[in-house]
Amino acid sequence: QLLAGAEALSRERDLRALFRLGAEHAMRFLGGRFGLFFQVRFTPPELTVGLLGCCVSDGADTYWDDVCDGQSWLPVDPLLADCLHTDYGHAIAHEGDTWRLAFAVGALGEARWVLEIHSPLKPRTADCQALSLFLRCFENVHRQWEYANLDTLTRLLNRKTFDDDFDRLIAAAELAEQARQLPQDRRDPGLKITQPCWLAVVDIDHFKHINDTYGHLFGDEVLLRLADLMRQSFRNHDKLFRFGGEEFVIMLRNVSEDHVQPIFDRFRMAVDRNDFPRVGHVACSIGFTRIDPRFSPAELLGRADEALYFSKEHGRNQVNGFDTLIMSGQLRLSTPAGQAQIQSDVDEIFL
Ligand code: GH3
Ligand code: MG
Ligand code: MG
Repeated sequence: QLLAGAEALSRERDLRALFRLGAEHAMRFLGGRFGLFFQVRFTPPELTVGLLGCCVSDGADTYWDDVCDGQSWLPVDPLLADCLHTDYGHAIAHEGDTWRLAFAVGALGEARWVLEIHSPLKPRTADCQALSLFLRCFENVHRQWEYANLDTLTRLLNRKTFDDDFDRLIAAAELAEQARQLPQDRRDPGLKITQPCWLAVVDIDHFKHINDTYGHLFGDEVLLRLADLMRQSFRNHDKLFRFGGEEFVIMLRNVSEDHVQPIFDRFRMAVDRNDFPRVGHVACSIGFTRIDPRFSPAELLGRADEALYFSKEHGRNQVNGFDTLIMSGQLRLSTPAGQAQIQSDVDEIFL
């Protein structure tokens, strides 16, 4: 059973599905009724956990729900703390008619997750040890996912992930857009009508000068700090990419037209106000566009880039939206993307 689980894990490419598969297979193996997957944060001497998701089983089927982002940190429960005292350790407690089990995923002092399972039966020690081995497989597959999908310097998503995921994200944007355009009485009442998705390109201002003046190491430090500011400024489900060099891409989901400019401006100002080690003040310019599912990734990036270059040419350290620039006549539609937009708008009117 666990080997089948490990095999399924090794084939999975989606990060969220990895957690679901890990939790579901562990639950099934131990006959668990209820399971919790926590992220572990160890900032000595403080040990805290954040809930990522939970798993419920009625004996026949197992259901996983990962609505939590793991960022609400709670003090660690004694049983969870106990399992974290050894390499891939586990701990058991009998409470009422339930056995509570906790499994550390990771070596001593390095565990990144804890899996808690509630079971009506006391599991055999050999089964707990087997499950610990399975969780090592989970950890290895997770590490491979990170190696393939994250930028090694900043640990933001990499360019390859952007290329791989973009179609999937566009498809989600397209569904949301179709739902939004239906008249009120024809909308599926169960469907949550989402706001548009947005794509932004961020480029650090005069980064070459920073490198030339302070050296590459301090340049890299600026990239690291900027990535941290991005993680702090945006929500957990927003997608943050390092595109290469000093260029970053942000994808926002479900944000209304009124809010998008202030959201990017808030980030720009956080960078503007930040005191970077040695370098001091650093600024960035941003261009963004609405993700219109009619356009290809290259066309959408082209639009965000045009808005970015407008920001660069008009004094830097500012945010501009492609659509607003077009509407206000500050930017002219000259790209194939722009012509495609006009053409499809014309089609919509006359067809
Ligand atoms: P602008 O305000 O117009 O964006 O000017 P800029 O100097 O930021 O732009 P330019 O494209 O001329 O320079 C980007 C520099 O980024 C050049 C390159 O040496 C540096 N760079 C690219 N990747 C890295 C990296 O990983 N680390 C460091 N430290 N520097 C990098
Ligand atoms: Mg650049
Ligand atoms: Mg630059």
